[in-house]
Amino acid sequence: MAAKIIDGEQAAVEVKEKIKQDIQSLSSEKGITPGLAILVVKSPVGRVHIAQLKERTCRQLGIKCRVFNLPETTTDEEIIHLIERLNDADPVHGINIHPLPPHLDHTLISQIVEPRKDVEGLHFLNMGDFLIGEHHMPPFVAKGIVKLIDSTGEKIEGKRAVVVGRSQLVGKPIAFMLLERNATVSIVHSQTPDLSAFTEHADILVVAVGHPYTITGEMVKEGAIVIDVGLTQVGTRLVGDVDHAEVQEKASWITPITGGVGPVTIAMLLDNLVEACKLL
Ligand code: NAP
Repeated sequence: MAAKIIDGEQAAVEVKEKIKQDIQSLSSEKGITPGLAILVVKSPVGRVHIAQLKERTCRQLGIKCRVFNLPETTTDEEIIHLIERLNDADPVHGINIHPLPPHLDHTLISQIVEPRKDVEGLHFLNMGDFLIGEHHMPPFVAKGIVKLIDSTGEKIEGKRAVVVGRSQLVGKPIAFMLLERNATVSIVHSQTPDLSAFTEHADILVVAVGHPYTITGEMVKEGAIVIDVGLTQVGTRLVGDVDHAEVQEKASWITPITGGVGPVTIAMLLDNLVEACKLL
């Protein structure tokens, strides 16, 4: 039987309703209009389109948003200098850095962001809080993925979850969040000799690799919930990490390639922004 589609747009609508209410309260009670700065360094795998989507969502919700499009030649020092300026800028309550090209040190640069403006939840102080169970600023992509799984109505507790990929942005945070929700979690990665040995037992399979079709039908358990985080441009098409044609026949639930993880992660980034404003 074909898998049911997990509707990321609908999940995002629910989060955005909550954000709208929060924005009204912030305005009436504190006189604050949330402000977001997005830093995009030009790269061959450009993220300009996603920045535009974020900008549009901010406009719809009444959030002030400014996108800084930086050239490919931007250095660590230049981006650090810009973040330091934004850290001191009162109208900016959150800073979002799009994945950086390899010559820039994303891990180092994320640590320059003032923790109270770290709406990605990647600063070591916020990550440390998160690891001891304090959710002041949880990593936004993981927060979105959990929302998608919850939207299926299926329980996470007691399930066997496998996360493919161990990045700071996606793999590690979602593995920890599922562990917190009492799933039994395995993380696999590029050095795992036999991915199938893990993935074929997963009740919940989260794939964040960035290589199209890494997960085929035979690697998936019958009835699994499959979250495909990966998004790669192949020619004019966007392709996920999962072979959807095959996997849809075995999974019980699956995210679509577009309209799945993307919209809800944007909503969760903005949710972290309003939560940051509430702490002012
Ligand atoms: P990343 O930092 O490049 O990490 C990729 C991870 O996948 C690494 O841990 C790597 O293992 C692992 N990996 C690579 N090839 C593998 C293979 N053949 N088998 C198993 N594991 C493999 O990427 P990321 O930031 O996590 O992003 C992953 C994908 O998600 C990208 O396509 C990105 O565009 C997408 N993404 C989407 C959203 C959204 O909102 N829709 C948000 C974030 C990311 P090693 O650690 O061993 O190298």
